[in-house]
Amino acid sequence: TTNAGTAIPATLPLRNDLIGEEPYGAPQLDVPVCLNVNENPYAPDPAVVETIAERVRRIAPTLNRYPDREHIELRRAFAAYLRRESGAGLGVEQVWGANGSNEIMLQIFQAFGGPGRIALGCDPTYSMYPEYARDTFTTWQVAHRNEDFTLNVERTLAAIEDVRPAIVLLTSPNNPTGTPLPMEDLERILAACETASVRGAGEGVHPVVVVDEAYIEFRNPGTPSAVTLIDAHPNLAVSRTMSKAFAFAGARVGYVAASRGIIDCLRIVRMPYHLSAVTQAAALAAFEHTDEQLGRVAHLRETRERTAAWLRTRTYRGRALEVADSASNFLMFGGHFEDRDRIFAAMLERGVLIRAVGPDGWLRVCMGTDEEMARFREALDEVLREAE
Ligand code: PMP
Repeated sequence: TTNAGTAIPATLPLRNDLIGEEPYGAPQLDVPVCLNVNENPYAPDPAVVETIAERVRRIAPTLNRYPDREHIELRRAFAAYLRRESGAGLGVEQVWGANGSNEIMLQIFQAFGGPGRIALGCDPTYSMYPEYARDTFTTWQVAHRNEDFTLNVERTLAAIEDVRPAIVLLTSPNNPTGTPLPMEDLERILAACETASVRGAGEGVHPVVVVDEAYIEFRNPGTPSAVTLIDAHPNLAVSRTMSKAFAFAGARVGYVAASRGIIDCLRIVRMPYHLSAVTQAAALAAFEHTDEQLGRVAHLRETRERTAAWLRTRTYRGRALEVADSASNFLMFGGHFEDRDRIFAAMLERGVLIRAVGPDGWLRVCMGTDEEMARFREALDEVLREAE
């Protein structure tokens, strides 16, 4: 047996449960308009580039030494950022960084999942979650969202009681749907988890509630972040990233805010020196330019609203396109595409890379520059006309 798209001979003792699996990831293609992986389309400002170069140059003479394992200076910067961005007053011991929020999530599964343990998510949701579960021998289970992709709180509460998960993984805004999680819904789930029991764990042990806030900076102004609830909820962990709004995907920096107890659990499973000195220096440099890095977020939010309104005026085979309400930098649209892979391919032929992800009949597009969005609209109009 070989894995499709890989060259794995049957003579290798690949784990039985990995046989036939493929490496995760959207196609990385060299096309003019890339709107497929929810990045920020705006490159760092030259002043930021200069500070990154300067900070990296300053630490380069010490690269024979291991970096600060506890990345204290960077954790101070995470805490300062969360205070400024969400009004949360957190100490250094309540934040923790890693190589992207992907690694944060893997550490959460390594610490709280494992054989006999269950992680519960609310689908449709981010397609990496089942992979973290697989890689840590955790069982992945889902409670389905409502038709409009909002969380079905009753169903989620029933699943918590029924499957007794160790990890309840909520995503706000959700990917690929863009749906925000209202604070009242989160508080009901937190309250239920505070008395719920965990399969495979002792008495008095309660689930960890993880809120993945990868896209939270794109939320509508005035709505709160789950980081404001951390002091009141020792089993709450809120995962964040510099990859999206902060326009720093290539640097691979994610972080989590939680009680000191949760952070101490993650410190047990982390690799020694998991965050390189170069990464730490680059991230500190970017935080020196927080205003510039976040400078386009409001514009991307407006682009999202304008694009959603435009999509709703388009039709596919005589029916208006549906667009899921989004608090993120992407939109899931269509709803009734009969062959979304054909639409995806026809867009790609026109140099516009989007994503065939989520429930069948839907496609996802992330917000690009004004010029990229003009090309997206032009290409989609042609493709929809052809499909009539
Ligand atoms: N969570 C969600 C919901 C995401 O969509 C992504 C990126 N696609 C991530 C986490 C991981 O992002 P990163 O590792 O770059 O922080």
